[in-house]
Amino acid sequence: MTTIFKKSVSGREGVWPRNGHDNVTDFIPAELLRDSAPGLPEVSELDVVRHFTELSQANFSVDTNFYPLGSCTMKYNPKINEQIAALPGFTRLHPVLPQLKGAGKLCQGALEVIHDSERLLSEITGMKAFTMHPMAGAHGELTGVMLIAAYHRDKGNKKTKIICPDSAHGTNPASATIAGFEVVTIKSHDGIVDPEALREVLDDEVAGVMMTCPNTLGLFERNLPEIVAMLRKVDALLYYDGANMNAVLGKMRVGDVGFDVVHLNLHKTLGTPHGGGGPGSGAVGVSERLVPYLPVSRVEKLEDGQFYLDYDQPKSIGYVAPFYGNFGVYLKAYAYILRLGREGLPRASENAVLAANYLRKRLEHAFEIPYNRTCMHEFVLSAVRQAEKGARALDIAKALLDKGHHAPTVYFPLIVKEALMIEPTETESKATLDGFVDDLLEIAEQIENDPTPITAAPVTQPVTRLDETKAAREMVLVDD
Ligand SMILES: *Cc1c(COP(=O)(O)O)cnc(C)c1O
Repeated sequence: MTTIFKKSVSGREGVWPRNGHDNVTDFIPAELLRDSAPGLPEVSELDVVRHFTELSQANFSVDTNFYPLGSCTMKYNPKINEQIAALPGFTRLHPVLPQLKGAGKLCQGALEVIHDSERLLSEITGMKAFTMHPMAGAHGELTGVMLIAAYHRDKGNKKTKIICPDSAHGTNPASATIAGFEVVTIKSHDGIVDPEALREVLDDEVAGVMMTCPNTLGLFERNLPEIVAMLRKVDALLYYDGANMNAVLGKMRVGDVGFDVVHLNLHKTLGTPHGGGGPGSGAVGVSERLVPYLPVSRVEKLEDGQFYLDYDQPKSIGYVAPFYGNFGVYLKAYAYILRLGREGLPRASENAVLAANYLRKRLEHAFEIPYNRTCMHEFVLSAVRQAEKGARALDIAKALLDKGHHAPTVYFPLIVKEALMIEPTETESKATLDGFVDDLLEIAEQIENDPTPITAAPVTQPVTRLDETKAAREMVLVDD
């Protein structure tokens, strides 16, 4: 692969209708012409199309292959969502347009989308209210922990600690630390939070507990009611990391269980392609007692049906994002929710859980599965048996690339040795799932016989094994 500059041919031009003019410069007023050429490649329109199409095909994507990257929910997202988010009535809005009638009513539709999205997410999760502002899952966590802090400050509570189980997502302790709390880690038991371990560390200084459910092992936390009751006694709040709500949509409402804060990753659960580092949306829902602290602005509805942005929230934690967050992302979530509806959303979760359990059952004889019971949307294999033979989780992940699959998440969660975390998502056919299993079983068999080819993989990719730290930190771009 080469750069477009290498493809430059002196004098070559794009396709222009020659309407009596020989030069593009004939169309441009003389005073606007530059003195020297801009140093752009000289290529035809077709050269450009082929160059960028070729580049796009060097990328791995759900549009081409299976992408079972655990925790990341790399599912197919309907293209209609993109079209809706690209409607000019939305994309051409300026963020400070006048809101109300007399002033032209120029953004009532966008405000209604925000208002409606908050209402739909509140209904799905059983929370009192939502804010769409946070721009990623971890940003939602930070916002949620700031809300917990604001609540305690307002009540005069002296709280300094947040409890995070070791089965929580790695961003949870990071968010609690950034918000100024001391993080207390508790060990899980049999893959889920152990109420006894929680009881041992629970005291009056605990501001809240952050739970990931399903947790990073893909397991449902079975002791939620008991945990909620314990926390209420010390006025500690409950945070639900609902990044992976795609496992329980329409099955369980976080608010009904008694949680005070939840964030959802709209870019995993509700229809935005997830990858490339963004953009995302980590919308946050709260119980009644946290509503006064939500970030500004709030979209409110007047009696005459008009919407406006309300900044008059004296107890608000303030701004967490410029303007209104990643509007395009929650527009896609809005379209996705309305399209799937009350019946489609639970069905998506059922399919995600079914697909994960199908893979788990087909793979359990060949790999260790430390917590081998009905999982939710994902499960974690351990390659300890294969590691003893000489090929580790990383080698297996690399070998899968040669078979045309994206690798699963490896070495996470930390509580499983040689972890391979697999999330098939709800959108793949049984044939695709079977193809993946067959390839993984073939790799396992190869390791039994001779692990050497597996430790040499990948052999079909543009690069083989890299020093992954240096590849990120000391990037040397070579143009051949
Ligand atoms: C992905 C994920 C996050 C973080 O979300 P980002 O948008 O990447 O910041 C948090 N918690 C869980 C459980 C996740 O899967």
